[in-house]
Amino acid sequence: MEAKNTEKTAVIGCGPAGMMAALQAAKRNKQVLILEKEKRPAKKLLLTGDGRCNLTSTLRPQEMIDEIFRGQQFLYSAIFQFPPQATRDFFEKLGVKLKEERGRRIYPASNRAAEIKNKLIEELNNQGVRIKLATEVEKILTSANTVTAIKLKGGKKIAVSSVILATGGISYPETGSDGSGYRLAEDLGHKIKKPELALVPLKVENDWTSLAAGLKLKNVMVKLFWQEDLVKESFGEVIISKNKLTGSAILIISCHLQEFKLENYKLAIDLKPGLGKEKLERRIQGDLDKYSNKYFKNALKDLLPAKLRPVIVKLSRIPADKVCHQITGRERSELVKLLKNLPVKVTGKGGVKEAIITSGGLALEEVEPATMASKKIAGLYFAGEILEPAAYTGGHNLQIAFSTGYLAGLNC
Ligand SMILES: Cc1cc2nc3c(=O)[nH]c(=O)nc-3n(C[C@H](O)[C@H](O)[C@H](O)COP(=O)(O)OP(=O)(O)OC[C@H]3O[C@@H](n4cnc5c(N)ncnc54)[C@H](O)[C@@H]3O)c2cc1C
Repeated sequence: MEAKNTEKTAVIGCGPAGMMAALQAAKRNKQVLILEKEKRPAKKLLLTGDGRCNLTSTLRPQEMIDEIFRGQQFLYSAIFQFPPQATRDFFEKLGVKLKEERGRRIYPASNRAAEIKNKLIEELNNQGVRIKLATEVEKILTSANTVTAIKLKGGKKIAVSSVILATGGISYPETGSDGSGYRLAEDLGHKIKKPELALVPLKVENDWTSLAAGLKLKNVMVKLFWQEDLVKESFGEVIISKNKLTGSAILIISCHLQEFKLENYKLAIDLKPGLGKEKLERRIQGDLDKYSNKYFKNALKDLLPAKLRPVIVKLSRIPADKVCHQITGRERSELVKLLKNLPVKVTGKGGVKEAIITSGGLALEEVEPATMASKKIAGLYFAGEILEPAAYTGGHNLQIAFSTGYLAGLNC
C-alpha cells in the first residue's frame, strides 16, 4: 500500500456516515482515525430495516430529493454527487448482492444488516483506517478558528488537521447517538436547531383506541391540519394500540408535527379514502337496505373490521339498537362525515427509544452544501444525521448518511 501522507483526519462516530466519510478520506491517502464511543461500531445500522437494512432505493436523484421533508435544498449537491445508484454500485463492488423490494427499496439479498456493517468494516481495514472503540470525543480544539486537535474523555489529546463530525441524532440513544455531537459543535459556535423526533409513533387521547387496540388499518388516509389548513396527508397503514397510533401513515405524519402548540393541530383518519362522500353515502344506504330489519350495530359488518364497528357505532351517536330502516338521512350523512374524518386527539410524540430519526440539529446555513465544510471553523466537516435534514422511510436516511459522508471524506 502507498505510504499515507502525514495529514490526519479524525472521524467522530462509527455509523454509516462516519464510515463512508473515513473511506473516502483514506482513498485520498489521508491518515484516518475513527473514534467511536460505543464498544461496538455501527450499532444503529444493525437495527435498520428490522435488521435487514433498507440501505438505499432505486430512485433517481430528483425523485429521492422529493422524499426529503427537511433540508431538501441543502442536499441537492450531495445527492446528485453521490446518488442511490452510487450507493448500490459501491456495495456491489464490495461483493454485496442487493435486491429490490416494494416501494423501490434496496436491501442486501442476505436480509442481514450485519453484512452491510461487516463489509464496511472490512473495507475500512483494507484502506488502513484505524478504529478506536469505547473512545468518546469530548472536545474539538481549535486555534485561530482552525481545527488543531481532539480531546478524548480522560484527557488525552490527538493532533489532527481535520475533523469529520458524524455523531448522529438523538433517537435510540442506547446505540450511542445521544446528542453529544451537538455539544461538540455548539462549543465551536455552531447553531443547533431544536432536534425533533420524527418517524415516531403518536400518543393520543381517545377512548376508542382501547376498543380497537390491536387493529391494523390498511389503505387509510391520515390528514394533519394546523388549525384549519391541511399540512400533510399520508396514505397507508395505521396500527392502533391503547392511546397510541403507529404504522407507515402515522410515522410520515409525525415528521410534520411539532410538539409545541399541539392544541393547534387536528388529526383525522379517512377510513374510506377510495370513496368520495356521495359514493360512500350510497354504499351505506345499500347496507342499511340490506339489513333494514336489523339493529344498526349489526349493519356495518360489510363496511368495517370487527374491532372498529363498536367504535363507529359509539361515535356516530346513532343508538346501537336502532333498527336500520329507521335511520334518518341526517344520521346517515353524519355517519359519512365520521368515516371520512375519524377525529384523533394527539397529546405528543413517542419517546427517543421509538423514533427512527431526528429532524433538526446542526443548522444548515453554517455548512457548505457542496463540501460539508463548516463555514465557521476551517478543517471541520459534518456528515449524516447530526445535520438538520431528514427524509421519509424508504432507505433515504441511510442514503443521506452515505451522500454527505462521501462529500465530507472527499473534501476534508
Ligand atoms: C430502528 C431504526 C431503523 C432504521 N431503519 C432504517 C432503514 O431501514 N433505512 C434507512 O435509510 N434509515 C433507517 N434508520 C435511520 C438510520 O439508521 C440513521 O439515519 C443513520 O444510522 C444515521 O447515520 P449516522 O452515521 O449519521 O449516525 P449514527 O448511525 O447514529 O452513528 C453515530 C455514531 O456516533 C457515535 N458517537 C456519538 N457521539 C460520539 C462522541 N462524542 N464520540 C465518539 N462517538 C460518538 C455513536 O455512538 C454512533 O455510533 C433507522 C433508524 C432506527 C433507529
